Amino acid sequence: MTRTPLMAGNWKMNLNHVEATGLVQKLAWTLSDKKHDPARSEVVVLVPFTDIRTVQTLVEGDRLPIGYGAQDLSAHDAGAYTGEVSAAMLAKLGCRYVAVGHSERRQYHAESDELVNAKTTKALAAGITPIVCVGEGLEVRQAGDQVAHTLAQVDGALAGLDAEQVASVVIAYEPVWAIGTGEVATPEDAQEVCGAIRARVAELHGPEVAEQVRVLYGGSVKSGNVVDIMAQADVDGCLVGGASLVVDEFAAIARFY
Ligand code: PEP
Repeated sequence: MTRTPLMAGNWKMNLNHVEATGLVQKLAWTLSDKKHDPARSEVVVLVPFTDIRTVQTLVEGDRLPIGYGAQDLSAHDAGAYTGEVSAAMLAKLGCRYVAVGHSERRQYHAESDELVNAKTTKALAAGITPIVCVGEGLEVRQAGDQVAHTLAQVDGALAGLDAEQVASVVIAYEPVWAIGTGEVATPEDAQEVCGAIRARVAELHGPEVAEQVRVLYGGSVKSGNVVDIMAQADVDGCLVGGASLVVDEFAAIARFY
């Protein structure tokens, strides 16, 4: 089966709702100008919670070929969890995707594999595709343990999910040392771990599920390196941070084909 490449822009804590309007409008215009074909790469923006309603109005109102989602969600359904946002709330706003376990959440908010698993489960139950982020830090990479480390995170995130659920998950391999540093993994580094992730899914749920699951690479992706990264057999798209805030760059990444 063919997996539609996914280019997801992670805005992180940038752009208020007014600025979000400008970026989404310009992105849609630029994609159209470049004759972007959504069947050849799906474009998604993961925006701050405060921007979601605005982006929804634009995307739905103007039927823009851009998906949107959030950067995190609560592991709880509702109740006394001050500051949290539930999967159901995101679904009500039309979010199709949500990032789970981004390395910045793991690092600054001590998110464990168990919590990532709980959030992944909540997203799926609400009909939202989780983009589960995994990847090793510099010390692990220097020790050559990147595959074992990342697969342990994959096992943790997918624990208890059935084959159908796993097939619909997106897994983003993001070596932490390459995020926001300008230090990009080589295409071979990306393929090594993305291939190992797909092989693990095959071990756990069989080759058909492994063929369906989309595995992204993230870490300093730019228009200048996207083609080589996307040429790798097990890379089905990119999670893009900094470059997703620059319309021409992100549009060029989306139009890599
Ligand atoms: C990210 O935020 O997930 C990311 C990959 O950032 P950057 O592209 O800036 O390295």
